[in-house]
Amino acid sequence: MTIFIAIYITVVGLLFGSFFNVVGLRVPVGESVVRPPSRCGNCGTRLGAKDMIPVFSYIFSKGRCRHCGTKVSPIYPLFEAATGLLFLWMFLRFGLTGTAALGIVLAGLCIVVTIADLKYMRIPNKVLLFFAPILIVLRLAFMDAPWWHYGLGGLFGGGLILLIALLTKGGMGMGDVKLFALCGVVLGIGPAVLAFMLACAFGTIVGMLLISFKIVQRRQPVPFGPWLALGTMIAYLYGTQIIGGYFSLIG
Ligand SMILES: [Zn+2]
Repeated sequence: MTIFIAIYITVVGLLFGSFFNVVGLRVPVGESVVRPPSRCGNCGTRLGAKDMIPVFSYIFSKGRCRHCGTKVSPIYPLFEAATGLLFLWMFLRFGLTGTAALGIVLAGLCIVVTIADLKYMRIPNKVLLFFAPILIVLRLAFMDAPWWHYGLGGLFGGGLILLIALLTKGGMGMGDVKLFALCGVVLGIGPAVLAFMLACAFGTIVGMLLISFKIVQRRQPVPFGPWLALGTMIAYLYGTQIIGGYFSLIG
């Protein structure tokens, strides 16, 4: 039975991933997510059902438009696969629980924010306002720590990024502040601190690699939202173990 639920959740994740691509690419520029229907960016041919099977359409068409042969961005199948994997991961880690459901919605937020921030360097309010009530209601319904734990997480997340945004004058935006306040509420204080440390570590390491390989310029601004999203995912999935392991090491 578990295998069927796992497959089902993965397929649902792939389909949502396909939708999250549309949301992440359209909402930041004020476009509707339903209209117009998806088209090839080059020849304008309207995409049919055959072109919109998550991940597989890309593989079968070898990453090209079936009509004009133009290369399709690998961003699409990449984020479809990532969404499918994250949904599955939440189920394998937490089973059929409220914690898994909350994790799946949180994964949705993280994916959309990552796409929007990578493409436009923006985290749209609309996306945050859509996810915030669902995440907060689910968190209140499935708390595994006292409520103030989550309240502190939100204060820490929003407060810390706000402080950095004010000190660095533009290094981080208000979108990052609101995003990490929301992630902090879902994570709770301990995992929120961990998520921030992970985000800084990933951001620094990848940033240095990108600069040393001359893919980005030293002064070029890079979005921080994707790192906050990645840190949040790891902290949500394994935060308690990582923090527990750390304290047993130093204790
Ligand atoms: Zn085309």
